[in-house]
Amino acid sequence: MLGAKKRQKIARTIASVARSRYGELKRRKVRPPLDQMVQSILWRYTSVRRGTRALRELKRTFVDWNEVRVSPVPEVAGAMSTAPWAVTSAERIEKVLWSLFQTRNAVSLAILSDLTPTQARTFLQSLQEVSRDLADEVLLFSLQGALLPLSDEAARMCYRLGLIRNDRATLQNQKALMRLWEPGLYPGVALYFVDHARTLCRQDNPRHKDCPVNALCPEGGS
Ligand code: SF4
Repeated sequence: MLGAKKRQKIARTIASVARSRYGELKRRKVRPPLDQMVQSILWRYTSVRRGTRALRELKRTFVDWNEVRVSPVPEVAGAMSTAPWAVTSAERIEKVLWSLFQTRNAVSLAILSDLTPTQARTFLQSLQEVSRDLADEVLLFSLQGALLPLSDEAARMCYRLGLIRNDRATLQNQKALMRLWEPGLYPGVALYFVDHARTLCRQDNPRHKDCPVNALCPEGGS
């Protein structure tokens, strides 16, 4: 792990890239929790930009999330894109919607507003196909939770950057990363993680040359 000064320098650079790419949180649209859940699933299979556009197309094409739940996967995927990621994400979206329906007898996350953040996370993680980082994204973007979601891919990237001691998405690593940025920056940093960890800092052959923090990264090779 890098020393504190170098870690802070990398954190500042990531915050600066995030701010210029995604804007300030105050100007971001706060979505209802179920919209954000679908959005966050899409972000796991494509970029923030394409995933945001796909969410818009789903909401334009289907009456509500219940209609998405009962529609054939190819129809849901076709409303978003002809690319393979649309099929994979449509399958996962439908699994989550079905799980929600079976748990609550309704396709709604309105219950979250009556729960504490810890209870809300526990409920979300009780649904099929909802990981802790996915639940945390819903809490961060829809319920103003003061936390920074950490996926396996983001943990790998942050480890390579020298920001954490190992490459696992543990609570300890999540807390260590949260100390690097003030809470107001978490949404932008979370989007930076989404866009860069899976496609740039990928498991094999990371694309160092395209990475905005290449010059500061111990593994960047610049
Ligand atoms: S420079 Fe390479 S190893 Fe470092 S964060 Fe970027 S993609 Fe990952």
